[in-house]
Amino acid sequence: MLVVMQQGATDEQIQNVIDRLVSLGFTVHRSTGVLHTVLGGVGPADEMDPADFEVMEGVKECHRIVSPYKLASRYFRPQGTLIKIGKVEIGGPHIVTMAGPCSVESRDQIEKVAEIVAAQGAQIMRGGAFKPRSSPYSFQGLGEEGLKLMRAAADRHGLLVVSEVMDHTQLPMLMTYADILQVGARNMQNFNLLREVGRTRKPVLLKRGNSATIEELLLAAEYIMSGGNYDVILCERGIRTFETYTRNTMDISAIPVVKKLSHLPIVGDPSHGTGRRDQVLPMARAAVAAGADGLIVEVHPDPDRAMSDGAQTLSPGQFTEMMQQVRAIAAAVGRTA
Ligand code: PEP
Ligand code: MN
Repeated sequence: MLVVMQQGATDEQIQNVIDRLVSLGFTVHRSTGVLHTVLGGVGPADEMDPADFEVMEGVKECHRIVSPYKLASRYFRPQGTLIKIGKVEIGGPHIVTMAGPCSVESRDQIEKVAEIVAAQGAQIMRGGAFKPRSSPYSFQGLGEEGLKLMRAAADRHGLLVVSEVMDHTQLPMLMTYADILQVGARNMQNFNLLREVGRTRKPVLLKRGNSATIEELLLAAEYIMSGGNYDVILCERGIRTFETYTRNTMDISAIPVVKKLSHLPIVGDPSHGTGRRDQVLPMARAAVAAGADGLIVEVHPDPDRAMSDGAQTLSPGQFTEMMQQVRAIAAAVGRTA
C-alpha cells in the first residue's frame, strides 16, 4: 500500500496514517520528497481498500503496489534517489566513475591506480580484497591487508572505496574500510547476505546476477531496502546468453528499463559486461547514452600482468580516453562526467 500525502500535510496527519497502517499490520517505510511525503506500507496489503486511506486528512492518494517489489519501485520515490556519500552524489546529474583494479594486489599497484583514476576524475576507487573466483586455485584476494592498502591509497587521493563483501562474516571488516559495500553477481540472491547488508546503513552496490531478470534484481534490492537501508546502487554487469565472443552480454536495455521501474540509481560495468578491454569504451559510451548514473570499470597500471580479469582491464591510457569520450556523451544527454 502506498499513501501519498498532500503537499503541506502536517506531522500529525502523517502520524495518523502511519498509526493506521501499523495497526493493520503494515511495516511503514517513509520517503520524504521535495513536495510530498510518501508512506510505503509493506505487509498484509491486498484486501485493503485504498479509499479507506484516501478519505483520511492530509492524504492525496493511495495505491496498491502491484509489482512484487514495493520499496524499490519508482512509485515509492517518483523523484528518484540521490545517494550522498561525503561530497559524492550518485543518482544526480553528474555521472560518477568508479575505477580501479579487479583485485588489490600490492601497495605499489594500488597507489599507482589511485593516482591514475583520481587524476582523470574518478570519484570512487574499486578493488576486490575478497574475490569470488570461478576456480578455487585462482588468486582469492589479499583480504584485510588489501582493504588497508586500498583505504590508504584512496584517502591520499580523496577517493571513496567500493569493495566486495562475499559473506556476512566479512561485513564488520568491510564496514571498517569501505564506503560502499559491493554485493557481487554471484551473491545477488544470497538472501541472508542481502538482509545483513540491509541492516547496515552503508550504501550498497548490488550487481545483477549473470542469469537474473530485471525483476529479480529489483527484488534483491527490495531485500536490502526492507531492512531500512535505502541506499542501493544497482549495476548492470552483463548477463549470460548464447553469445560466446564476449564474456557476458552487456544488457544496455536494462538501464532505461530499471530507470522506468525503479527510483534507484544504476551504473554500468562494461568490464565484466564484455570481458574484453577492446569493447569497454564503446559499452561505456552506450551505458551513459542509455541513462546510467555511473560507470564501474577495471583499470590497472599494467593490465597484462593483472592477477585477475586482465583481459577486460583498461590501461591508464585507455582509461583516460574513456573518460574523455564519456564526458562528450554525458554532455549530449544533458549531464556531466
Ligand atoms: C568484480 O567486480 O570484480 C566482480 C567479481 O564482479 P561480478 O560480481 O559482477 O562478477
Ligand atoms: Mn573483476
